[in-house]
Amino acid sequence: MKALHEMGVAELGRALQANQVSSTEITKHLLARVASHEQLGAWLCVDGDAALAQATAADAQRAQGVGGALLGVPLAHKDIFVTRELPTTAGSKMLAGYRSPFDATVVARLAQAGTVTLGKLNCDEFAMGSSNENSAYGAVRNPWDTARVPGGSSGGSAAAVAARLVPAATGTDTGGSIRQPASFSGVTGIKPTYGVCSRYGMIAFASSLDQAGPLARSAEDCALLLSAMSGFDERDATSAQRAPQDFHAQMLAARDTGEAARPLKGLRIGLPAEFFPAALAGDVDGAVRRALAELEKLGATLVDVSLPRTELSIPVYYIIAPAEASSNLSRFDGVRFGHRAAKYTDLLDMYKKTRAEGFGAEVKRRIMIGTYVLSHGYYDAYYLQAQKLRRMIADDFQRCFTQCDLIAGPVAPTVAWKLGDKGDDPVASYLADIFTLPASLAGLPGMSVPAGFGEAGMPVGLQLIGNYFQEGSLLHAAHAFQQATDWHTRAPAGY
Ligand code: GLN
Repeated sequence: MKALHEMGVAELGRALQANQVSSTEITKHLLARVASHEQLGAWLCVDGDAALAQATAADAQRAQGVGGALLGVPLAHKDIFVTRELPTTAGSKMLAGYRSPFDATVVARLAQAGTVTLGKLNCDEFAMGSSNENSAYGAVRNPWDTARVPGGSSGGSAAAVAARLVPAATGTDTGGSIRQPASFSGVTGIKPTYGVCSRYGMIAFASSLDQAGPLARSAEDCALLLSAMSGFDERDATSAQRAPQDFHAQMLAARDTGEAARPLKGLRIGLPAEFFPAALAGDVDGAVRRALAELEKLGATLVDVSLPRTELSIPVYYIIAPAEASSNLSRFDGVRFGHRAAKYTDLLDMYKKTRAEGFGAEVKRRIMIGTYVLSHGYYDAYYLQAQKLRRMIADDFQRCFTQCDLIAGPVAPTVAWKLGDKGDDPVASYLADIFTLPASLAGLPGMSVPAGFGEAGMPVGLQLIGNYFQEGSLLHAAHAFQQATDWHTRAPAGY
């Protein structure tokens, strides 16, 4: 048998089912690994005793004949999901020491499926960022090269999965925060259609965009997790009212062509010209094109399509997301949650000092931008225009989907950059979100699949985007690709 940290979710589930290993053994093994890799900065909190208690309970259930593919499988949560048993910070000083009185729906559902929670993972403050350098608790390092960023905002999740500290983790994606760190860290991640996972208990950044999803090593593992995480929740008004879905079964059943060598026969993959601009780094372009050739070998046909407003996604997103953030973050006022300034003269002064002390620079920048674009006199010029363009961007996708079943392209214009490289230039970081923002604005499902390596041996992800609620066919294409390639099985040196 392989070492326990080398096994993914499905593999661990099978070993548990076959009584080859106990959840307690897996949990102990991973806790020891987590402790010996603290230098990555991926974890904000680890509770070994609580994890072992959950593992013992899972083992007892299994001994009584309770099944389940996830029963006893360890994972960890991005620290943007509130948890009753563990502190929740959202990567912010504002929430230092905060304890939620309830679990996020995603957390509760994964616990119900029998998973064991090792701890909470670092992220950009309130999920604002693309490098995990905006966390109040320090940067996360990329295990492929610790001088580089793991991507963000779910950087702790991506780094922990890449370093084989945990087989899977939750993440959230508002404008790319599952797909981009998955790409930068060489793991598989899926952001489902807006509304598939409940946002209840997910600390809000931009409510019309925020979605939860898994990061794991393979599409198969993502399918298992997504099935447990997703589903209608009456506590989220934007939750999609759909019957519970088994994405794993859908993934296996999707487009069963009956031809083992060409499982993607008949699948039309659209390549938007705008996703392959001259400015795209050569190493990323090369890896993505080789992956596309592989998909062709598997039976898919490539068709040229156009998403003409791709570039406009950047200003549109960076108006809408800050607008919603400025409203959502008004609740952090020193009265109801977390931090409160120690010294102040009156209520207004308390608000000001609390927010000045509690929020980091990027969060303050977004609150200012958001308040500005929503203010009387600018609302029509910025916010309303952005909303109109958002609709047009969504319509552009629907036109594409008359010509193709899935859309493919790069996740990011370059591989992971060095820590500090974009530190004093927030706009440079915003521009790097160009390929993930369109699907977010349209509310479409998107994935990042390991597709090879580029400059300095850094991972490159292939992005796949599907039409609404087509998670099953996205996962199917990714799974077929992973059956034919081994990029997703590669581990960084020393891990
Ligand atoms: N990088 C984007 C931002 O900073 C996306 C973040 C996210 O998806 N949470 O807003």
